Amino acid sequence: MAELRFPPVRLPAEARAVREKVRAFLRDELEAGRFTPDVDSWGRFDPEFSRRAGRAGFIGMTWPKAYGGGEYSALSRFVVACEMLAAGAPCGAHWIADRQSGPQILRHGSELARRTLLPRIAAGECYFAIGMSEPNSGSDLASVRTRARREGDAWVIEGSKIWTSRAHQVHYLIALTRTGDPGPDRHQGLTQFIVDLKAPGVIIRPIHNLAGGHEFNEVFFDRVRVGDEWRIGEVGEGWRMVTGELAFERSGPDRFLSDYRLLTALIDHLGVEPGAEEVGAEEARAVGRLVAHLGALLSMSQAVAGLLAAGENPAVEAALVKDVGTRFEREIPEVARRFFSGPVRSGGADYFERALGRVMLHAPSYTLRGGTREILRGIIARGLGLR
Ligand SMILES: Cc1cc2nc3c(=O)[nH]c(=O)nc-3n(C[C@H](O)[C@H](O)[C@H](O)COP(=O)(O)OP(=O)(O)OC[C@H]3O[C@@H](n4cnc5c(N)ncnc54)[C@H](O)[C@@H]3O)c2cc1C
Repeated sequence: MAELRFPPVRLPAEARAVREKVRAFLRDELEAGRFTPDVDSWGRFDPEFSRRAGRAGFIGMTWPKAYGGGEYSALSRFVVACEMLAAGAPCGAHWIADRQSGPQILRHGSELARRTLLPRIAAGECYFAIGMSEPNSGSDLASVRTRARREGDAWVIEGSKIWTSRAHQVHYLIALTRTGDPGPDRHQGLTQFIVDLKAPGVIIRPIHNLAGGHEFNEVFFDRVRVGDEWRIGEVGEGWRMVTGELAFERSGPDRFLSDYRLLTALIDHLGVEPGAEEVGAEEARAVGRLVAHLGALLSMSQAVAGLLAAGENPAVEAALVKDVGTRFEREIPEVARRFFSGPVRSGGADYFERALGRVMLHAPSYTLRGGTREILRGIIARGLGLR
């Protein structure tokens, strides 16, 4: 049976220095009242914040300087992501482009795409959506039916995508399309394209979520023309491309820190010294357990970042972190609810109540977005040679 690897990582001096830098940036932002900390902050869309983060060098950190990056290690980027989430900073505008679209373009995009898009992403000015899921093709991505057909030096895309987060607010979407025969394993004949969401033929319709918010959409492609230079990877290589993109999507601290501000609010609500007389033993045990889990997740996720920094492909370990991490994210509101009496209102008077109300409405999606738990467990089982 294959083994899971989570080698302990000691942060190098560069990453420790970057932590001080990003903390100072976030402190200045807070003191100037430029953002209000919130839960699930990587879903909050604030282009002004993203531009300031870009100017400060916190987007595209690992990319070559020639493309607007900072040539930092993956561990430095990991530290910045953790600090942004822990501060509850509204980093949603640039999050997807920084986390997965930019790295995908850097590795597999054309030189034109790299030169045109990466510096704008790193400057916090250009944002992306993920165009994978379709009606009836969520977990089973290989069954996508959106088609791209070659016409001269361009491609014409027809079909639709669903659950596309922020497609109504961002500039581009990377679409997984069918360009050829699926072959015996159904993974052949797929190709990814960068689609300009302002292009003629793109229609975006809102889907409102459980919390009443407009965060995701349906996107329709009605004969949308895309030049060949906006293709990602080789024609027919889309399956390899999309699974590589998902490895970036699944491995980070956003899979266990979405509720961090609720956890700290719970601790404030219970009192600063769990275990002291005014805090009951049950509360102290519950908080202690959550904090211990958070520590373990942080070490595991940091180990994944270390493996990425060493050029390895820790896809199975990343799937495990997402599976355990998102379960943890769903447990925090359940524990917090036990220690809040009365109905919870997301517009409530104190921060703990508001954060709890907001997380209760968003938490059901945590284990779905980026791949469901059943799918992740299948990947883990396969990686361990169990299926
Ligand atoms: C908040 C949010 C944001 C999202 N943003 C985006 C986005 O920006 N872009 C995008 O492309 N998608 C996005 N998604 C879609 C998300 O990736 C899919 O919802 C997810 O992959 C599941 O697909 P599905 O909804 O079609 O469910 P289905 O695939 O129909 O699954 C339904 C149920 O069946 C289970 N199941 C399915 N197949 C198997 C199997 N083989 N074995 C065991 N169980 C199985 C699943 O685990 C699940 O419980 C988002 C989803 C959410 C909730």
